[in-house]
Amino acid sequence: MNIHEFQANALFGKYGVPAPKGVPAKTVAEIDAALAQFPEGMVVVKSQIHAGGRGKGTFTDGYKGGVKVCKTKTDAREAALKMLGNTLVTLQTGPAGRKVQTLFFTEACPPKKEYYLSILLDRASSRPVIVASTEGGMNIEEVAKATPEKIHKVFVDPAYGLADFQVRQLCFALGFNPKESKEAAKLIRNLYNMFWDVDASMVEINPLITTADDRVLALDAKVGFDDNALFRHPEIVALRDFAEEDPKETEASKHELSYIALDGNIACLVNGAGLAMSTMDIIKHFGGNPANFLDVGGGASKEQVVAAFKIILGDKNVKGIFVNIFGGIMDCNVIAAGIVEAVKEVGLKLPLVVRLEGNNVVAGKKTLADSGLPIVSGDSMADAAQKIVKLVAA
Ligand code: GDP
Ligand code: MN
Repeated sequence: MNIHEFQANALFGKYGVPAPKGVPAKTVAEIDAALAQFPEGMVVVKSQIHAGGRGKGTFTDGYKGGVKVCKTKTDAREAALKMLGNTLVTLQTGPAGRKVQTLFFTEACPPKKEYYLSILLDRASSRPVIVASTEGGMNIEEVAKATPEKIHKVFVDPAYGLADFQVRQLCFALGFNPKESKEAAKLIRNLYNMFWDVDASMVEINPLITTADDRVLALDAKVGFDDNALFRHPEIVALRDFAEEDPKETEASKHELSYIALDGNIACLVNGAGLAMSTMDIIKHFGGNPANFLDVGGGASKEQVVAAFKIILGDKNVKGIFVNIFGGIMDCNVIAAGIVEAVKEVGLKLPLVVRLEGNNVVAGKKTLADSGLPIVSGDSMADAAQKIVKLVAA
């Protein structure tokens, strides 16, 4: 799960990670109320979307820049009104862009120099890794490719925690002066504590800046959380913004279905992640393209199958459906009843191929056959996959 910059900024405040003060706004009235809290002079206006590259982004109406450093409050108000409700396209949003529904106003902090700092979970070493670079404010993937020597990494032993010498190593690598080092050391420690405490999967500050008076500040804030640990952080779950998520994936998670949208046209409804992956493979093998990954789990109910059909059909690209069920724990007849009910309820007009195997398969196949619905039955995975690929191509 991801949160907005203004929420991450507040979390930074709670953990003692220095960052510019800011106020969010969702409406014109809130924009005016927010600006009233700033002294006359420079204000930064920042579009809040769950994607980076906002500074260099362009709105669909041609307005340039999702982050604006404004000289006056009047300019800031004007920029805010242009951004609110507008759709911002950045390198990370894809061509469709994201609608800006919240703005964040911050005090303007002129950077002396920009740096990069992040903490992620390194799966290879099973440790948190702190990544730092003197090349801040840029696309870090490009820095890593062109000048890998400018990326510094410190691996933290989770049992021992972040050691003082590691913090000094980072401050030295970034070339901070003594006063900046003292500030940065505190920031890095507090950021690590926060990362650990909230079960983050990543925290990224790009840019981290130094100021003329040697302070060190997080000018941008991105935080992602480990979904498997959310159950112990209700205060973080409360920050979730459904407007930023694929509505189909949100709906799927409500019904405890694992759904990932893809860009093909054959929808898959499968039980078990392994079978779901082999189903996508076999569709590809026979020349088709899967529209999604959908795992209904080991013990799906009729309601879940109906919900799954509705989610699948919410995707306009879908031209056919392939249901592939291996009944281990699952009763094939429960699935069959769910399919029949779903097809009737949604008035399905697309070709549907069903392959059932395993527990109570005979009753399941009979339920499908007796329904009188135009459901094509597949005898094996290969047979069913070939049938749906052919039907969709027709
Ligand atoms: P991103 O483009 O989505 O990563 O958004 P950022 O929050 O990083 O903002 C983009 C750029 O705007 C930053 O890299 C900074 O160079 C600049 N910026 C952001 N906040 C301030 C600020 O308070 N003062 C100044 N001078 N520049 C800022
Ligand atoms: Mn940034």
